[in-house]
Amino acid sequence: MRKPLIAGNWKMNGTRANAGALARAIHDGAPFADVEVAVLPPFVHLPDVVAICEGGDVRVGAQNVADQASGAYTGEVSAAMLAEFGCRYALVGHSERRTHYGESDELVAKRFAAALAGGLVPILCVGETLAEREAGETESVIARQLAAVVEVAGDDAFADAVVAYEPVWAIGTGHTATPEQAQAVHAFVRQRVAQLDADHGERLRILYGGSMKAANAAALVAMEDVDGGLIGGASLVPDDFLSICRTAG
Ligand code: PEP
Repeated sequence: MRKPLIAGNWKMNGTRANAGALARAIHDGAPFADVEVAVLPPFVHLPDVVAICEGGDVRVGAQNVADQASGAYTGEVSAAMLAEFGCRYALVGHSERRTHYGESDELVAKRFAAALAGGLVPILCVGETLAEREAGETESVIARQLAAVVEVAGDDAFADAVVAYEPVWAIGTGHTATPEQAQAVHAFVRQRVAQLDADHGERLRILYGGSMKAANAAALVAMEDVDGGLIGGASLVPDDFLSICRTAG
């Protein structure tokens, strides 16, 4: 039985005061029955958010992680640094990183491997653009993104990781994938991972992300292979985020 995970990706939003207030509201919304809840604030807000969430029900993660362990990599933050600050998760390969910052499948895979090596649980984002979906390339895109990770991190890559299926056309657009569209891709992801290791495939949590909100969360998480959500916009509104968490539980 997979415990659902709801993770809030705050992106580059908020002041220090906002971040603290948001973290406190979510922390105070606990306990959460039968669902794990995580928040992913900007790097600079991590210490405050970790301090607020310490000892409670809410886990904390980062929105990216360096592909190297340490050294002359200006602007990067290593997995060990994040782990030391109380992070459990790190997003890798969010489509905004792939699109705006040119992160390749190979770089994403290295970040994924570095997260694992540094003691974090990577949340690997995969997903197709609208043009790719319309060209019938959804599965080949996802297969390529997963294969890049296996190439670098090995056949056991998904033993202790999370995958987030985020169709690019659904992120921040209000156009959510239908539960059936999400289920089809989630089943495909699970089957690819199960080909490497049946147990890893069965245990893998696969989140849906892309305009998930309180109104559509129930139908999405009801699907067999949808094990929670990666939430952007709605994670900035405490009542909306808490409502999604309760629905997933
Ligand atoms: C995201 O950026 O990961 C995301 C899912 O955003 P939104 O929920 O706003 O579509």
